[in-house]
Amino acid sequence: MYVEYNLYFMILSVTAVISATVAYAAWQRRSRCSASKPFIAMMLAIAGYATVAAMEASATLLRDKIFWSKLEYVGSGTVITFFLIFAMHFTNKLHWLTISNLAKLWVIPIFNMALVATNEWHGLVWSGFLPDPQGTNFVIYQHNVGFFWVMGCVYTYTLIGTLMLVQKALLPSALYRRQSSMTLAAVVCPLLGATLYMLRLTPVGLNVTPMSFMLTGVCFFVSVFRFRMFDLVPVARETLIERMSDGVIVLDAQNRIIDMNPAARYLIGAKHQHIGQPLAEVLGKWSDIIKSYHPHESFKTEIVMDSGTVMYLELLITPLHSDRQQLTGRLLVLHDITQRYQAELELRQANQRLQKQVLEIQTLQAQLREQATKDGLTGLFNRRYFDEVFPKRLLQATQNAAPVALMIMDIDYFKHINDTFGHQAGDMVIQGFAEILHKYSNSQDMACRYGGEEFVLALPGVELEKAVERAEQIRSSFEMMRWEFAGKEISTTVSGGVGVFPKHGNTKDELLSAVDMALYAAKLDGRNCIKCVASN
Ligand code: GH3
Ligand code: MG
Ligand code: MG
Repeated sequence: MYVEYNLYFMILSVTAVISATVAYAAWQRRSRCSASKPFIAMMLAIAGYATVAAMEASATLLRDKIFWSKLEYVGSGTVITFFLIFAMHFTNKLHWLTISNLAKLWVIPIFNMALVATNEWHGLVWSGFLPDPQGTNFVIYQHNVGFFWVMGCVYTYTLIGTLMLVQKALLPSALYRRQSSMTLAAVVCPLLGATLYMLRLTPVGLNVTPMSFMLTGVCFFVSVFRFRMFDLVPVARETLIERMSDGVIVLDAQNRIIDMNPAARYLIGAKHQHIGQPLAEVLGKWSDIIKSYHPHESFKTEIVMDSGTVMYLELLITPLHSDRQQLTGRLLVLHDITQRYQAELELRQANQRLQKQVLEIQTLQAQLREQATKDGLTGLFNRRYFDEVFPKRLLQATQNAAPVALMIMDIDYFKHINDTFGHQAGDMVIQGFAEILHKYSNSQDMACRYGGEEFVLALPGVELEKAVERAEQIRSSFEMMRWEFAGKEISTTVSGGVGVFPKHGNTKDELLSAVDMALYAAKLDGRNCIKCVASN
């Protein structure tokens, strides 16, 4: 065995182990982010690169050293290509990653690998090999133009990737900036190592690039475990989420805020990002809403924010799951519905006004209906009502085999009152009689003003004798009434006719006509008296 396990071998082996460990950790979380796959590939390439560099460092034969050196270029070419692909994924430049672009990316490293592999034929990479003057197993590679071309390629790839990550690190999101800053630190290490190696500033011309990759591995290791680099899917948030008018808040499984866009900050009136803080601390009542809903279903609700101006927000909570259906967090989308809410409010108010108007119209209609059935001067039912309702009462009476008494009363010499005292005085007398009629009738009875000073009183269920009695009471009460008008006293009398259904008439008209005859008889008999329908 022509090997020597020196310090460099040890350091490079550790580099390989750490890189492989980071790759394994990323593999376990690979589903969460598209950048995780090129990252894993890159970390494995670093592990491979470090392994072959370790082999080179431990080899003692020149032939072996050259063999491992050639393999190192396979490692470095693969690392930088995967690094560039990873940077594109991480910075959401996925549209660049077409098949043809990927093929172009691989052309240069593959060409370089071929160039190094065929160095014996052209000597373009290494023109010669010198043993270490200090007697170690190290070899000083004498670099030719091909080497600088290859290193130039490594530089260019690393630089492009670095610039992309720098740009990403400047984005206004605390979480991504921390991720990117850490990635940036990781990227600078190999760039520094390659620079030192090319400028021959390393001890005995040793290629320290693989060792510097160990630091890269450590930085990424921290990114993965400390800042949960692959916990989030970095979508094109700078164009989508940062600028959208809807608020977006991302929570982790423990309801801590992972991310929040400017619209969300504005809508909830937050002064800063609150990244890493539990939601309960930022907005207490919201966390209750979130806890109360099922972890596997989306949930929509409306909330009112009152931070200065009142805002109505629609809140959509969507659970985020891993491939294995574990709850990994929640996505909160806030939509400002203040305008819609106000429009709805105005609509509701307009509706209420309309309902009030409908009620007023209904009341007016009821009043109209009443006015249509009532007499304006006395408040008694009018003739139309009597003509419409009285036949129905007769029908009911027929069904119940009950009598219905009917009286017609007419004020005596009324024209004389009108002529002597005026129409107004006449009205007063009519109202006075109406009051008496009202007093002597109950809720079952129908008291109506049938004409000018002519009244009818229908008494369902009342026999003739009782009706006559009632008519007499009315007559005598009216006789005793006195009115004062223009300093003069007014008084008069009333005459009445009384009949009963069905005895004196089977229909309204028959009965009315019979009772009217009785009234006429009363008038003929000198007035101020009550007469019954004459029995044939
Ligand atoms: P009789 O004793 O025979 O019943 O004589 P009368 O004068 O009472 O009867 P007549 O039919 O001659 O006159 C009734 C008068 O009633 C005629 C009309 O001008 C008057 N009249 C009708 N309606 C009203 C009213 O609403 N108010 C007033 N003030 N007078 C009315
Ligand atoms: Mg009359
Ligand atoms: Mg009269």
